[in-house]
Amino acid sequence: MKDTMLAVFKTNPEPGGTEFREVPVPVPGPDDVLIKVKACSICGTDVHIFNWDAWAQKRINPPLLYGHEFGGEVVEIGSNVKTVQVGDYVSAESHIFCGSCYNCRMQQRHICSNLNILGVDTSGIFAEYARIPVQNIWKNDPDLPIEYASVQDPLGNAVHTVFAADIPGRNVVILGCGPIGVFAAAICEKIGAAQIFATEAKYKYRADIAERVGADKVFFGDVDVHSDVMEATDGVGADVVLEFTGSPAAVNQGLKLLRPGGTMVLLGVFSKEFTTDLTDNVVFKYVTIQGITGRLIWDTWYRMRGLFKAGLNINPVITHTFKFEEFFEAMEVMRSGNSGKVVLYME
Ligand SMILES: [Zn+2]
Ligand SMILES: [Zn+2]
Repeated sequence: MKDTMLAVFKTNPEPGGTEFREVPVPVPGPDDVLIKVKACSICGTDVHIFNWDAWAQKRINPPLLYGHEFGGEVVEIGSNVKTVQVGDYVSAESHIFCGSCYNCRMQQRHICSNLNILGVDTSGIFAEYARIPVQNIWKNDPDLPIEYASVQDPLGNAVHTVFAADIPGRNVVILGCGPIGVFAAAICEKIGAAQIFATEAKYKYRADIAERVGADKVFFGDVDVHSDVMEATDGVGADVVLEFTGSPAAVNQGLKLLRPGGTMVLLGVFSKEFTTDLTDNVVFKYVTIQGITGRLIWDTWYRMRGLFKAGLNINPVITHTFKFEEFFEAMEVMRSGNSGKVVLYME
């Protein structure tokens, strides 16, 4: 094995501020595994880090080796590691949990009080090799395509969101057709939603992906969604609204589209506080609102494996592939909004 590796670092606290560096290959500690990364994908989080927006300025301390979505092969294990072997085909849960806080002990490790996120708070995986705590390793089925292995972190967000509500046989509205929104549409289609409506304000490219994964009706741009959804649901409204935009206007619209007694699930992150009419849109409508973050560890991952076994097709969402050396081109495609998931191959 080589002593050094090529890795992508956020080097400077400014927009862009990213460069390739040749650095030592990490040495695994007793409870870590070393992985040869085969493919990685760019997350919305990585775009925030690249763009150096308000969130990144508060959270990130350059220099940082970033990235957290990948599939790869174990090449070395720490002395305490028993459950993973050299040669295993793995991905990882990016939420590094402590295992001993109240939330962890209550089986809610995804909201650990001492959470560290891979490639945000610790060294990430935009590199030829990555060191990961064994507790965060997920073994993939050997026949899982490497692109599918790489995108399980955002796909898991979508699985977690979709299964927080009662979807089979129900009418669903998906707000926002970014990668996680269209993953959610594909899952809703697979598990038998009655009708899937999807909205996308900005990018026609993404609205088209929603159509390809099985949304029944996609509303692009500033169009009247309300009358169409009401008409298609016999004036009742949607049973479930899944929110992926982080836009106050979308939430208010979603609450209006929801039938009385319906459920709204929120995954989108809001950049500021906003007001909404809770009395009429939530209390008197008997609406349930559920926030979602991360993935249930490991419930969501097993369900994801089950959905792959059932034939979940996410190919339309994986729109671009590049070589690792083409990181900057890949990042530009991701930043343009004219993409689904962008996957980089290491070899
Ligand atoms: Zn991600
Ligand atoms: Zn914890």
